[in-house]
Amino acid sequence: MGKPTGFMEYNRQKVSWRDPSERSKDFKEFQVALDEEKRIEQGARCMDCGVPFCQSSYGCPVHNIIPEWNDQVYQGRWEEAFWRLRKTNNFPEFTGRVCPAPCEFACVLGINEPAVTIKDNECAIIDKAWDAGLMIPRPPVKRSGKKVAVVGSGPAGLAAADELNNAGHQVTLFEREDRLGGLLMYGIPNMKLDKGLVEKRTNIMAQEGVEFKTGVEVGKDISAKDLVKDFDAVLMATGATVPRDLPAPGREAKGIHFAMDFLTKNTKSLLDSNLSDGKNISAKGKKVIVIGGGDTGNDCIGTSVRHGASSVVNFELLPQPPKERPADQPWPFFPRLEKDDYGHQEAATAYGKDPREYCILTKEFLRDSQGNLIGIKTVRVEWEKPQPGQRPGFKEVPGSEETWEADLVFLAMGFLGPEAKIAEDLKIELDGRSNYQSNYGEYKTSVDKVYSCGDARRGQSLVVWAINEGRGAAKAIDLALEGSSSLLG
Ligand SMILES: Cc1cc2nc3c(=O)[nH]c(=O)nc-3n(C[C@H](O)[C@H](O)[C@H](O)COP(=O)(O)OP(=O)(O)OC[C@H]3O[C@@H](n4cnc5c(N)ncnc54)[C@H](O)[C@@H]3O)c2cc1C
Ligand code: SF4
Repeated sequence: MGKPTGFMEYNRQKVSWRDPSERSKDFKEFQVALDEEKRIEQGARCMDCGVPFCQSSYGCPVHNIIPEWNDQVYQGRWEEAFWRLRKTNNFPEFTGRVCPAPCEFACVLGINEPAVTIKDNECAIIDKAWDAGLMIPRPPVKRSGKKVAVVGSGPAGLAAADELNNAGHQVTLFEREDRLGGLLMYGIPNMKLDKGLVEKRTNIMAQEGVEFKTGVEVGKDISAKDLVKDFDAVLMATGATVPRDLPAPGREAKGIHFAMDFLTKNTKSLLDSNLSDGKNISAKGKKVIVIGGGDTGNDCIGTSVRHGASSVVNFELLPQPPKERPADQPWPFFPRLEKDDYGHQEAATAYGKDPREYCILTKEFLRDSQGNLIGIKTVRVEWEKPQPGQRPGFKEVPGSEETWEADLVFLAMGFLGPEAKIAEDLKIELDGRSNYQSNYGEYKTSVDKVYSCGDARRGQSLVVWAINEGRGAAKAIDLALEGSSSLLG
């Protein structure tokens, strides 16, 4: 521990965000890094706890060795901090930007003071490593002669490919999109995670020997059975890509889109032509309603504001979460709190009102005579007190019916697991939520040589969990192929 009194001397200081009215004019990253002196102070706040809950299973899912690199940040030993961080996390440049930081909610300092800025410290370490030229290709010294196919290039597939390649296996990664990264590329918008970072990182992996095949859909352009025949192991990291629909009357109205259609097309058009090819769904001048909160809903709000929507409203069926930790979600648990995310701030700045409406249920989509969406009928709901062992229910509030004008609706209500095609072709067993059935830590499916990880196995989750699962699956495959493994998992 570098500075025993650091946590008493310095206040928590997060990276700042560009002004909402400025940043919502472009798609550039909104975070602004602290200068080095301030960052060192933030490293000094870490107490080097005897039991560092930040890196325990309550905190960081990849078990980053947080107190060690916090201390190295304080001491300005950036290269050592980078190597410590790189041991446990293949992609700190992604988590350092987009992770909701369960580590900070588990930080011991957070019991009675604002927690250490763990996520920002992580981001500073990896950004400095890039600037210092430490991120260079390091191909494995020896090859095993074994071939592994990875399907899907999200954080789970990329982490697995990186680990398996480091272990000497020849990895071929199949991705159906034209660009690599999964939701890092075509889900999370550019203002939150610059796509140049995803490209830089996957370029290094390619130079280290990972073979990337983009524009190849397994189950269509190449059969899953052929992969099983041609490779020593196959890893399904295909994500949870089936969106939850809202089958209310009028659902077929023109102007209702799944959030992922909106976000994917936007980023693709942005990267291909700076939004000039006319291939995105434009919210310019439109009355937008986003149905569903969470990260996806927030990203739709931020993107709509950038397009110049005339209004943006966000419906959420659940009640408004508390802003502070409630008694039933004590430290060190990761609580469900209301976040003032970037999109909420931008909409409030642009339209003078927080866009979120809680406890609201969509009853009907209204159409004009040409079938265009013109509005939504809703009703407010009241949630019942949860009974032990039962899912909480709600009832509609009589007399609370409302009609909202809308030209565009984005459905952001979560995902229902991976698409069925590959599992059907290979007869892989699914679990009760239609994800691939394979045990956490083992990652083996019911079909010999076939493994699964990430959102396709655990359901819709987080980037950091996808990295954890990709690393774990790589270790399981390495063990099966070699009889032993030096991968950390
Ligand atoms: C809009 C949005 C915003 C999010 N924001 C955050 C955030 O801020 N922080 C956070 O931690 N998490 C966030 N998440 C969740 C996070 O992105 C996911 O949990 C994570 O990306 C899952 O990783 P994965 O590798 O399992 O799957 P994915 O990232 O979904 O990648 C799966 C890949 O498999 C490919 N694929 C599927 N089928 C095939 C096939 N048959 N052949 C070839 N390729 C195939 C897909 O094209 C895709 O590229 C967000 C999710 C969404 C939707
Ligand atoms: S729990 Fe917080 S204060 Fe303790 S070691 Fe981890 S980051 Fe530092």
